[in-house]
Amino acid sequence: MKLVTFCTRDDPAERVGVLKDSGVMLLPGVRDMNQLIVEGLPDVVHDGVDIPLDQVTLLSPIPRPMQDVLCLGLNYADHRKESRSFNAEDFKLEKDLPVYFSKRVSYSQGTGAPIPAHSDVTKELDYECELAVIIGRDALNVTEEEAGQYVFGYTVLNDVTARDLQHAHKQWHFGKSLEGFAPMGPCIVTAEEIAFPPALELTCTVNGELRQHSNTELLIHTIPEIISQLSHGFTLKAGSIIATGTPSGVGMGRGEFLQPGDVVTCAIEGIGALTNTVE
Ligand code: MG
Repeated sequence: MKLVTFCTRDDPAERVGVLKDSGVMLLPGVRDMNQLIVEGLPDVVHDGVDIPLDQVTLLSPIPRPMQDVLCLGLNYADHRKESRSFNAEDFKLEKDLPVYFSKRVSYSQGTGAPIPAHSDVTKELDYECELAVIIGRDALNVTEEEAGQYVFGYTVLNDVTARDLQHAHKQWHFGKSLEGFAPMGPCIVTAEEIAFPPALELTCTVNGELRQHSNTELLIHTIPEIISQLSHGFTLKAGSIIATGTPSGVGMGRGEFLQPGDVVTCAIEGIGALTNTVE
């Protein structure tokens, strides 16, 4: 099932529905995606389409995450290598343990919405295409074998980054958290539709040029490992979003950063494409 948050051309109110080939089936009584994740799907009254696609504007599936997004750094081998060639000191790892950081997200925009350039505070705006895992029920002391039972679904997240701020402040939080730095979409694919752990092709293009191409089976620290490890330290609440890391091909590795007008498309097999233009 593909779940979406959307509005229509005539009504800016956010609603939640199921994305079908020809339109969206409205889920009545659902306040927002956070409520749906925590309380589960309502009884669906019919299986048709309520709103045709040409009247639908997709928003981020979770426009207002309940907590900061949990992120993995340096979780693909080829991206570790390119990061160190950019700055050996910043991206040195003392131990082979997951690098966790968080990303403040007051509002996540969806596909088609702009990424603000923030030219006043950064000259090194960068993209990172990532598979995001959404937790479906509170996870505490979960084993790797049990981890799949706690996944609600998956979406595409662009972990937009200001490299100069990431470097300047030592901790990555600020450089990862500017307004508009967490576009997500186009939908959440629910967990039962994707074999666990996911092995999905992932690509990112900038102005149509292929920049990133990998597969989520190449994650160094796997989704079962991440869920299990975090849940042994705190309760991984339902609605938590985990951005699992990005492969090589980011602007930092090329010495080439995003500029106003650039169009970034992050796509993952079976989920869809998230396209945003820098403004
Ligand atoms: Mg990232």
